[in-house]
Amino acid sequence: MSTTATDPADPAAQAAQAEQADPTVRHVDHLVIGAGFAGLCAAIKLQEDGEHDFVVIEKGDDVGGTWRDNTYPGAACDVPSQLYSFSFAPNPDWTSSFSPQPEIQAYLRRVARESGTLDRFRFGTRVEDATWDDATARWTVQTSAGTWSAGSLVVGAGGLSEPKLPDIEGIGDFCGHLFHSARWDHDVDLAGKRVAVIGTGASAIQIVPEVQRVAARLDVYQRTAPWVIPRNDRRYSALERAALRRMPGLQRAYRTAVYWARETYVPAFTLEPGIAYPARKLAEANIARGISDPDLRERVTPHFALGCKRVLISNAYYPALAAGNVDLVTDRIARVTPTSVVTADGTEREVDVIIVATGFHTTELPITEHLVGRRGRTLAERWRESGMAAYKGTTVPEFPNLFLLVGPNTGLGHSSMVFMIESQVQYVRQALRTMRLNRYAALEPREDVAARWNDRLQQRMKRTVWHRGGCSSWYLDEHGRNTTLWPRTTFGFRAALREFDAAAYAVRGEPAPLPTGTIPPTPQQTEDVPA
Ligand code: NAP
Repeated sequence: MSTTATDPADPAAQAAQAEQADPTVRHVDHLVIGAGFAGLCAAIKLQEDGEHDFVVIEKGDDVGGTWRDNTYPGAACDVPSQLYSFSFAPNPDWTSSFSPQPEIQAYLRRVARESGTLDRFRFGTRVEDATWDDATARWTVQTSAGTWSAGSLVVGAGGLSEPKLPDIEGIGDFCGHLFHSARWDHDVDLAGKRVAVIGTGASAIQIVPEVQRVAARLDVYQRTAPWVIPRNDRRYSALERAALRRMPGLQRAYRTAVYWARETYVPAFTLEPGIAYPARKLAEANIARGISDPDLRERVTPHFALGCKRVLISNAYYPALAAGNVDLVTDRIARVTPTSVVTADGTEREVDVIIVATGFHTTELPITEHLVGRRGRTLAERWRESGMAAYKGTTVPEFPNLFLLVGPNTGLGHSSMVFMIESQVQYVRQALRTMRLNRYAALEPREDVAARWNDRLQQRMKRTVWHRGGCSSWYLDEHGRNTTLWPRTTFGFRAALREFDAAAYAVRGEPAPLPTGTIPPTPQQTEDVPA
C-alpha cells in the first residue's frame, strides 16, 4: 500500500489517501456529536455556511437531547420559551410562557425537519472513541456503526446527559421499580402506590406535585432544601399567538424584554449576593403561601444565599409537600432494602417505587473519557490533572480541531443556554472559515492563552454567590472550583466569542495567499437580542 506523503494542509488529499488505505472508513469534513439544541444548531449553521460535508452522530433515536430524554410528568423549561429557542427559528405557537417538554421536543423536531439537515444525522449510533491523528491532522471516530474520519470534531453531547445515581447501600437490591428522573419508566403506574423521590433539585420539584396527585403515599428525601420562587406562568391566548405569528417584530420585542429581564439577575449572582434580597423575600413568601405547618416551613427553608444553588421556580411544590399523603424526610438515607428506604434515625419506610432525581455527571463529563488528543491522553485525563477548563468554553490545548459546545464555564443560572450555544456556534463557524481561507490543517489554543483566560475566570468566580453563598452544588468540582458556570453577562460571553481570535491559536499548515475578490462573506450571527 502506498504511503506517499500528502499535503497536511489539504484535507481532501488527506481524506483521499486515508480512504485508499482503509476503504471501510467514511470521511467527512466535520463530525458533530449529539443532536440536542447544540448539535442541531451546529448542523444548521454548517449547512448555512456551505459546509455540506458533515455528519451528526446521535446515540438516541431522535433529536432533542435532554428534551428527548426527560419525559417525566411535569417536565418543563424554567426559562421562558420566547428566549429558550433559536433566534433564527422563532416559534409563535408556544402555548404558555414556560413550555412543557413535549412542546420543546416538537419544536426541535420541526426545526430539524425544516432545516433540511436530517439526512446527515445517524441516530442510534454511539461514539465509542475519537482519536486525533497527528499525521493526517484528522479525528478518527469509532462508533457503534463503524469508523469515521473527520477534519474537525464538534461535541454537543450536553452537560446534563448522563444520569448520576446515588451511592446508597443496598440500592441495587431494591425489588420494586426504581428509575432515574431522566429515564422515566412510563410503564409503571404510580396510582395508589407508595413512592419515594430522592432529591429536591430542579427535576424533583416538578415531579413531586405530579406524583403527589396520584400516589397513595409519597416520601420526599431532601438532603438540602432549595430556594424556590413563584412560577409566573401564563397561557397565551389565541389572540396573543395570532399577533405573534403575524408580527414577527412583536415576538422579537418580547424575546428582547425577556432577555434583559433575565440579565438583571447577573449582578446578584456575580457581584453582590445581597442584591437578591427581594427574590429571597419572594421565596420566603412562596413557602408561607404553600405551607402552614411551622415545622415543615422551617425544614424547607434553605440556609444559604439565594442563587448559590440553582434557583428553582414552582407554585405547586410547597402545596404538594404540605399535602396529607406526603412526608418530607430530612434524615440521611442510611440504606435501601429490597422493599424499603431506611434513614439514619432507624426509621424504615416501605415503598413500591423509588424515583431517583439526583442529577447528572456535570464536572466529569463521560464523553471526555473517549476523546484522545495529540499527546495520546484523553480529555478526561487532562482535566483530572488541570481541572475541567477550555479556552472560551470551546477549545482545548492539546486537542486540535475540537470544538466543545456547552463546554466548561458556559452554563447559566439565570438565562437561556440556547443563547450561549448560538454564541459558541458562531465562534466555531469563524474558526472553520479561518481554517479554510488559510488552508490550515489544524489549530488549537495556545496553553498560555488558555491558562490566562481560565485564571481570569476563576479570579472573577471568587466574587460570585456560587463561591460565597455557603452551599455545595454541582457547579463546583471536587477541588471547589466552579468549572460549569459563566461568571459574567451573557452578552459579555457573546462579545468574547463574536470574532475568531486566530492569534490565540497554534496552527499547522502554511497560510496560502488569498485570491482577491473571492473571500466568502463573514458568517453573521443571526440578529438577536443584545445586538
Ligand atoms: P440536581 O439539581 O443536581 O439535583 C439533585 C438533587 O438530588 C439535589 O437535591 C441533591 O441534593 C439530591 N441528591 C443527590 N445525591 C443524593 C444522595 N446521594 N442522597 C440524597 N439526595 C441526593 O439535579 P436535577 O434536579 O436533575 O437538575 C439538574 C439540572 O438540570 C438543573 O440544575 C437544571 O440546570 C437542569 N434542569 C432544568 C429544568 C428546567 O428547566 N425546568 C428541569 C430539570 C433540570 P443536594 O442539593 O444536597 O446535592
